[in-house]
Amino acid sequence: KAAAGEEAAHPRWVRINAIKSTLEEQLETTFRGYARAGTIQDVVAKEGKHILIDPHVPNLVAITPGCDLSKTEAYNSGKIILQDKASCFPAYLLDPRSEDGDVIDACAAPGNKTTHLAGIIRSHEPEFESQPQTIFAFEKDSRRAKTLEKMVKIAGSNKMTRIALGQDFLQVDPESERFRNVGALLLDPSCSGSGIVGRDSMPELHLPDPPQQNPRRESKSEPTNKRKRKYEEIRNSNQTVIRDDDGNEIVVESEKDLAARLNALAGFQLTILLHAFRFPSARKVTYSTCSIHSQENEHVVMAALNSDVAKERGWRILRRKDQVTGMKDWPVRGSTEACNGDEEVAQGCIRCYKDDGHGIMGFFVAGFVRDHANASEDG
Ligand code: SAM
Repeated sequence: KAAAGEEAAHPRWVRINAIKSTLEEQLETTFRGYARAGTIQDVVAKEGKHILIDPHVPNLVAITPGCDLSKTEAYNSGKIILQDKASCFPAYLLDPRSEDGDVIDACAAPGNKTTHLAGIIRSHEPEFESQPQTIFAFEKDSRRAKTLEKMVKIAGSNKMTRIALGQDFLQVDPESERFRNVGALLLDPSCSGSGIVGRDSMPELHLPDPPQQNPRRESKSEPTNKRKRKYEEIRNSNQTVIRDDDGNEIVVESEKDLAARLNALAGFQLTILLHAFRFPSARKVTYSTCSIHSQENEHVVMAALNSDVAKERGWRILRRKDQVTGMKDWPVRGSTEACNGDEEVAQGCIRCYKDDGHGIMGFFVAGFVRDHANASEDG
């Protein structure tokens, strides 16, 4: 089936799950017969099936949009995962290593980033039969947590992942003995979803990856078509729909409402970030959204850096020069203006825009680090 509209300008992104396969194996099997492309534009526009090995994120490829992988053995056995390139940035930037200890994925369903974290841990320590590190995956919405459970299982990361179904991350005690060894946290909280491809001003369809890229959840099914029609009507009436923290849809009637809603989302996102800063052994945190609004992005980063808990505990931005190679090399950075003129913070922030020729969704990610865990126990 050919992709249409805005989606046609974007390739299909496929992450090779390092727990179950390798890039080489997939090139010889699932993608045998795909011609190598030199650029994203070639992948999208050339006749026939094309593939490009991504130069930034390891184990990621872009293929011709519309190629159906849902019936392949690799897809059905969890060897490959359909995941937008931008959605791969947070786990790659966090880069959990054995010395980081346990990892938390605070807002985990449906599990794209949880399974990516597991794949990265495995690629760093391939010889371990059972990994010494644990990933704690929290998900407040029990229904979505069931999907997370399924995804973690099919990706083969269930042995190293503890899923807390229906668990609100904000209710988790950072000082609990269970989390004593948590050195790294990935935060991907609910957001307005304004960067999602094919949704324009319809962030209400905010599921972590665009539905067209995930046939397991995707569909041509009746409900999705109905939803699409409903949002088309809303768009034509100049209204906007966004989600609240519980996943409920809210129709925003005006610019003023939208500003108020973004403000509320930013407050929630900052609370999540500051909660993560309180884990005593934490030394790395990533914060991401699929929003293009600075209110949910650079502004949240600045507020977090200026918070008492960040100052007391020594949290600072992960500078561009200290990032993993592919993220250091990524050209699109945060807005200096939105960072109050702080060029170092803006350069530390990673951005994507869905129409800038990279073939990915609108996204934002920033990393935070501190040199010494337990820099202050009483902050
Ligand atoms: N990281 C996921 C992935 O890549 O597949 C996508 C996460 S989605 C953007 C945000 C998720 O956070 C939603 O499933 C939402 O239910 C969950 N959430 C929101 N607030 C939460 C909280 N306080 N604690 C745990 N989960 C929360």
